[in-house]
Amino acid sequence: MSPDPLAPYRELALEAGFDLLGVAPAEPPSSGAAFEAWLAAGHHADMSWIERQRERLLDPRLVLPGARTILCLGISHARPPAEFRDGGRVARYAAHRDYHNAIGNELRRWARSLVTRGLAGEARAVVDAGPVLERAHAARAGLGFIGRSSNLLHHRYGPWLFLAEVLIDRELPIETKKAPGSCGTCTACVDLCPTRAIVADRVVDARRCISYWTIEARGFVPRELRRSFGPWVFGCDVCSEVCPFGARAPATGFDFGHHPALERFRLEDLFQLDEPGFAAAFAGSALRRPGRSGLLRNAAIALANLGRVDAWPTLMRALDDADPVVRGHAAWALGELDRDRARRELEARAALESDALAREELREIFADRR
Ligand code: SF4
Ligand code: SF4
Repeated sequence: MSPDPLAPYRELALEAGFDLLGVAPAEPPSSGAAFEAWLAAGHHADMSWIERQRERLLDPRLVLPGARTILCLGISHARPPAEFRDGGRVARYAAHRDYHNAIGNELRRWARSLVTRGLAGEARAVVDAGPVLERAHAARAGLGFIGRSSNLLHHRYGPWLFLAEVLIDRELPIETKKAPGSCGTCTACVDLCPTRAIVADRVVDARRCISYWTIEARGFVPRELRRSFGPWVFGCDVCSEVCPFGARAPATGFDFGHHPALERFRLEDLFQLDEPGFAAAFAGSALRRPGRSGLLRNAAIALANLGRVDAWPTLMRALDDADPVVRGHAAWALGELDRDRARRELEARAALESDALAREELREIFADRR
């Protein structure tokens, strides 16, 4: 029997701590048209970087000229639910140190080792190459299938996988067998998504997705969505948590490194952080991504959704925050926690508020809608 040409790559991948390796051709994936349609429908919200990189995302050969093969790697990040000390929830992947650093460093090291060992002439590591196409390459490489939630699902790790790629200039035999599994008649993710963001099979409209709003979006969250965010302060794992494919995923063995932020803070504590304090507290954590403004905005929404009337004094103080987004969401949270009290205590506030959008939030408390 001839030796498996992928064996040395697999061996090295396992040695480096990756859980899965598959290979796909370095060419546009078959889902390119679906990606274009997703963009055309505006489902990427204001993530303009996706549009700017459209060509590169569609054709891996623009990332590494001469690329022949994509080595698709999967790293499990299955772990127990993650939350702040008092219950504001955080996407599980963000409980550790920022995976971009942990995986990015490992991936670049791994890519270099392929060249050193003569397994590639050139190798280029790619992390976060645009989720839509990354999943398509991984599915082509046999790492799983794409479920209704648009997550890549692996029969063992379910949706709890980080994906990463290394492009190489060497042609390797492509396995054509499809990964086992299908959604069948299950529609759990579609039915239980809090904001109804899964608008069609494998199509998530970022404009409704909690992950988009709590991580990527800047500024004010649409009022009609805030209640649906529930306890989520950063990201959302609902479509992964309800997926039967992830129910028995073993805990990750990859060392992402510990980050102390979740153990250290209650949601209210976040409001004590100024910009330098925030930067210091969340250095090395994915939670710094929405910035102080975004994370405090999300915390105010979660405090309201969790019914945290005890956070009233904190939210009142947040009405004097330098950031209008924080002031506006604190006002909204106060109105949701106790409308009558908010009306009594905030009567004079709207006249003092200098920002039009924050002022609108205060005015809403007095609007006679309910
Ligand atoms: S991440 Fe949350 S909001 Fe977004 S599609 Fe999944 S369940 Fe819905
Ligand atoms: S929850 Fe059900 S429908 Fe959704 S991706 Fe998982 S198996 Fe598919």
